[in-house]
Amino acid sequence: MPTRREVITLGTAALVAASLPHRGEPLHAQSQAAPAGPFTLPPLPYPADALEPHIDAQTMTIHHGRHHQAYVNNLNAAIAKAPSLNGKTIEAILAGLDAVPEAVRTTVRNNGGGHANHSLFWPSLKKGGGAMSETLSKAVASAFGSDAKLKESLTSAAMGVFGSGWAWLSVGADGRLLVESTPNQDSPIMRGHTPLVGIDVWEHAYYLKYQNRRREYVDAILQVIDWTVVGDRLAAAKK
Ligand code: MN
Repeated sequence: MPTRREVITLGTAALVAASLPHRGEPLHAQSQAAPAGPFTLPPLPYPADALEPHIDAQTMTIHHGRHHQAYVNNLNAAIAKAPSLNGKTIEAILAGLDAVPEAVRTTVRNNGGGHANHSLFWPSLKKGGGAMSETLSKAVASAFGSDAKLKESLTSAAMGVFGSGWAWLSVGADGRLLVESTPNQDSPIMRGHTPLVGIDVWEHAYYLKYQNRRREYVDAILQVIDWTVVGDRLAAAKK
């Protein structure tokens, strides 16, 4: 049996080996393991500790740098096996999963969804949050009654996800706002909806700081949603 120390060392070595090019190894060998594109990890739009104390820096670093990066890597590897997807946006791919070759469809669904969902997530968070535009505020009042009711609805959708998934504020096919949840890394785009903001309720999003206290995490996320960005997305969706 290896000692605990050996296990930790081995674990660290394996992580490093998986994430860094090997010294002396030609670059093309590395790119074979994980194609460099077509999709890339968007940089975090703020330092990892920007949302402390609501979201801790360690969670942010691992969530973005390892989890989101893994979705990107797995998506690119799947696309390398399905050239018909080359040149398509991730939104177009997710809106037409039936057109994705069956051999890679589940991989594209899970990892393409993961990439799209997290790409929306990071820029929708900001220290101190951000105010709703008048247009967003009116749409929220019309659909939910008030900002507070929207937050209640998002909270109960987030708490209602069994296992891993997301709670969303989306624009439906009829142009109205709705709150919904999706399992795993499914995106509202797969339903013909336009996601405006999502709350990631995978345990990887909160477990280090909040353990099983999902409600506390959801309350914290609602403190840092940048409603200005959400309003901009609504304006873009209406065009
Ligand atoms: Mn996540």
